[in-house]
Amino acid sequence: MSRVRVVLLNAALGPLDYRVPVDAAVEPGSIVLAPLGPRQITGVAWEADRLPTDEIDEKRLRPLAHVYDLPPLAAPLRRLIEWTADYYLAPIAAVLRMALASASALDGSRTITEYRATGRVPERLTPQRAQALERIGERQGLVRELALAADVSDSVIRGLVKAGAIEAVEVAVDDPFPSPDPDHDPPALEAAQAAAAAEFVEAMRAERFAPFLLDGVTGSGKTEVYFEAIAEALRLGRQTLVLLPEIALTEPFLKRFAARFGCDPVPWHSGLRQSQRRRAWRAIATGDAQVVVGARSALFLPYAKLGLLVVDEAHETSFKQEDGVQYHARDVAVMRAKLEAIPVILASATPAIETRQMAEIGVYKEVALPNRYGDAEMPDIAAVDLIQDPPPRGRWLAPSLVRELEANLERGEQSLLFLNRRGYAPLTLCRSCGHRFQCPNCTAWMVEHRLVGRLACHHCGHVMPPPRACPECHEEDSLVACGPGVERIADEVAALFPEARSIIVTSDTIWSPAKAAEFVGRMERGEVDIVIGTQLVTKGYHFPNLTLVGVVDADLGLSGGDLRAAERSFQQIMQVAGRAGRGEKPGRVLVQTHEPAAPVISALVSGDAEGFYEAETQARREAAMPPFGRLAGIIISSEDLAEAAETARLIGRTAPQVEGMAVFGPAPAPLAMLRGRHRQRLLVHAARSLDVQDVIREWLGALEWPRGVRVAVDVDPYSFL
Ligand code: ADP
Ligand code: ZN
Repeated sequence: MSRVRVVLLNAALGPLDYRVPVDAAVEPGSIVLAPLGPRQITGVAWEADRLPTDEIDEKRLRPLAHVYDLPPLAAPLRRLIEWTADYYLAPIAAVLRMALASASALDGSRTITEYRATGRVPERLTPQRAQALERIGERQGLVRELALAADVSDSVIRGLVKAGAIEAVEVAVDDPFPSPDPDHDPPALEAAQAAAAAEFVEAMRAERFAPFLLDGVTGSGKTEVYFEAIAEALRLGRQTLVLLPEIALTEPFLKRFAARFGCDPVPWHSGLRQSQRRRAWRAIATGDAQVVVGARSALFLPYAKLGLLVVDEAHETSFKQEDGVQYHARDVAVMRAKLEAIPVILASATPAIETRQMAEIGVYKEVALPNRYGDAEMPDIAAVDLIQDPPPRGRWLAPSLVRELEANLERGEQSLLFLNRRGYAPLTLCRSCGHRFQCPNCTAWMVEHRLVGRLACHHCGHVMPPPRACPECHEEDSLVACGPGVERIADEVAALFPEARSIIVTSDTIWSPAKAAEFVGRMERGEVDIVIGTQLVTKGYHFPNLTLVGVVDADLGLSGGDLRAAERSFQQIMQVAGRAGRGEKPGRVLVQTHEPAAPVISALVSGDAEGFYEAETQARREAAMPPFGRLAGIIISSEDLAEAAETARLIGRTAPQVEGMAVFGPAPAPLAMLRGRHRQRLLVHAARSLDVQDVIREWLGALEWPRGVRVAVDVDPYSFL
């Protein structure tokens, strides 16, 4: 009789042993269904010696219920899952869940039933039904998906099916994806581009681990160059995964990819319908999906023959996952490449200090593209001193920026105003008593969104209509908006230039790849004069007629004061500046600031990126901050304030004395309350050489806390809130 160790998709359980039925073949990586109490749970067979556990007696082993007819998870992926769980102190089951990201993909059926509107109006058209049909429009999906899209209950959708207004359609989910053609329409590369591409092609042929930093200014053709690596992967019959930081970037990427390779790659992101997810997952697992473009969650999928990994805009902090398994996709991507023995390309115009340091010490090979493609020049960056050249009262755009906008409008060129603040105003208060609107669940102000007529919390999503009277002093019409958000800047633009066509680009307006495609289309057709946007518009886009960028508040990013504040500000402004002058016409960037002498601003204006990075790197080195030292955050949260504080004190009190490690806190987190939970933080600072995870594992492993308390460890934290 043979037994097998299984990791079940249940983070509360350790690995369990099962009996393999005589007629079944199970090897490490096999995807199985295992009985657990009265239920059956999906799991994956694992090497027993890698996951030691208390062995139960042979006689008590229960047989596996089923072994799926799917390729087993390969050894490099199993090692990646172990490494991720170990490094980020996460349950192995929680990491495994990301690999088996489509439950429906496991069952073998070839069709899935989806629903869509028939166009017939039901006899009984209640307001709810009318709303549902309107919101569903052309959409197609599972009952649940349609209900979510329409914001109604499942039963409303089912009622509409009965009434004939919505019909079932069978969707074939195993249709093959088209094959990208490596020679469909290759560009003629410039010398520097060709040299870079040649490096990648050579590394592809060598079939071993090769980490690259593709460091090229905005518009230098980084995408074109890594496309050559993808072309080589296609010729070699290997799969490629391209990670993008933002699903809004997927659509423009698909278009460019199709122009180069003749068909779309396979997208993977949270916006996929279940049927699309299932089809993609199976194609990835069988090797049929040759190029996948996705969000960070695509990183753990079971590629049959992965040959190349690309992380585009690799400096983006959105690659860091902030809940669940708190991993950094850039770092896990490098680890996956190492375990798969393949090349990985980190592409960025503003590489993170961590990445630059790896190139500096020769671990990553740096491939540079120092100039923009063709005749495009880097834009000219100038500071606007808000003290010397202040906007009129209650306005936010300085006269010199307004003049540039006007001139640009006259020339028929496009402009972009960047402000990293959604909504109309970040703070609303009562003029008569000073009451400020705070979220009831979070330590955060309610942000006014005037377009939809709501106050919203950007942390938990709590919304309320703006009241006419102050809830504190009951004075009517006394609420005033403080400070600007993008909507307020749009109002200012409309007042200044009534005839200009403007558009607001934030996650509120561009919330799907389709919306992003619509925005790109309008820009390309010249239907927009002025874009007002958050960080969402800072990356990836290529609009040749966009020649002016105005940074509304360059000081904003510096106020948080965390480890990476200056670096992040620099990257963000460089990225948004990089949208200007990408075509034949030169670009101009105006950066509004109260502190033109701040190092970040003067580096931007003088173009001395190297000097800025050197100073930042030196400061990190001296303080032994990442990448020269290590950090880990410990976040304790509970709905009960006393319990959270008590547990935090317990953890603080029991901190081990270890050479090369210091523990700070506990203290209430800056976001002292989030989604109704009180939060306390500790920060662990350790020498690079210390296995800080091991120390923390032992430390916390010996403690107990009340059930309602959650203790999360954030290894290599990016958020200090
Ligand atoms: P980056 O990713 O470095 O910002 P892109 O790859 O987006 O740069 O290139 C900028 C623009 O220049 C794109 O429109 C791209 O198609 C074009 N481009 C770059 N290199 C070439 C080339 N060798 N031939 C034709 N067009 C190119
Ligand atoms: Zn909130």
